[in-house]
Parts: sequence; C-alpha cells; structure tokens
Amino acid sequence: MRLWPAWRSGVRCLVCEGFSWQIICRRCQKEFLTPTLLKRELEEGFWVYSFYSYGEIAPLLHTKHSFIGAEVYRIMASRSFRLFGREFSLESYAIPIDDRIGREGYSHTAILAHALGQEGGIKPLYNRLIPRNRVHYSGKSREYRLSHPRNFIYRGPKGSIILVDDIVTTGTTLREASKVCREGGGEPLFALTLADAAFR
Ligand SMILES: [Zn+2]
Repeated sequence: MRLWPAWRSGVRCLVCEGFSWQIICRRCQKEFLTPTLLKRELEEGFWVYSFYSYGEIAPLLHTKHSFIGAEVYRIMASRSFRLFGREFSLESYAIPIDDRIGREGYSHTAILAHALGQEGGIKPLYNRLIPRNRVHYSGKSREYRLSHPRNFIYRGPKGSIILVDDIVTTGTTLREASKVCREGGGEPLFALTLADAAFR
C-alpha cells in the first residue's frame, strides 16, 4: 500500500485518490481494512491479539504523526476494535497504553479504546496507565527497550482489563504494562492491538 503524498481536502481517498467523502473510501476500507485476528503469546498465559499484520497497513499507522491520523485511526478502529467490543461478552475495562494527547492534538490509543467500548460491555478508561519514563521506542532495539523501561504507574480498577495499543513489536511495553496492572490489583485478560509487527 502507498498513500498519496499530498492529501487534498475531504473529497479524495488517501489510498486510491478516488472520490470519497471519507478519508479512506469504502472500497479501500474493504480491501485493506477487513480484519483477521492474529495472536501471539507474550509470556505464559498472556496473549496479544491483533487485527492486521504490520506490513499490510504500515503507511496508515504512520499517519499518527500528523493531524489526519485522528480520522485514519477512527476508521481503522471502527472496522476492528468496535466489532470486537460488540462480540466480546465479558464485562471488562479497556485501558490504553500511554494515552497522553500528542502534539497533533489527539491520542491514537484513546481512539482505539473508545471504539472498543462503543457497543457491548467493555468500558474504556483513560489516563490509568501513566509512564514515568517518556522514552520513544520507535526504531529502537529490543536491548534498548529492555534497558529503558517505561516505569508505568497504574491508576486503574481491580477488575478484568484489556490492554490497548496500536502496534506490538517486541512486546516489551505490553509485558511491562501487564505486570504493573497485576501489581495494582487489576487482572489483564489479554492485549489488543491494531497491528502486529511480527507479521509482515
Ligand atoms: Zn480508496
């Protein structure tokens, strides 16, 4: 997939540049954003489920560094997280990883957690998992990630929790978050991400 370099107003699809009122047209949504559930065990009994392989949607994931990412993430979340939330029957909380509002004016992980709670029994909670260490992991090695933990503080409830993030790479962040939740009395059931970088 490649995106058109200059996104022009609201009447062109970002992917095919065809006429569209939405930033990604219905045809491209169907072609590129029909989810398949991928799964990976991060540690004994703790799994991450993802809707897309990283390679499939990488250019769309990169839009989170600009303002159009809010709309792109809303569309991706609506085609994956929202449907999952509708089918999932266990009452639980969705807790996004590091959902501070970015420079672009929104939080992409909060958009995902919100979609999960739109239908069904999952309740999104925001600002409950706060990193003391604001390190950027993008492009960093597994060794770097391990030696620079986020040092999360957990301010969430003592119930069943679903951890939410956009990408899982080495799984370091999710393992750390899961441990902090358990220490705080929460019960992380599993993690949900848009994309898994282990699948290309
Ligand atoms: Zn299109």
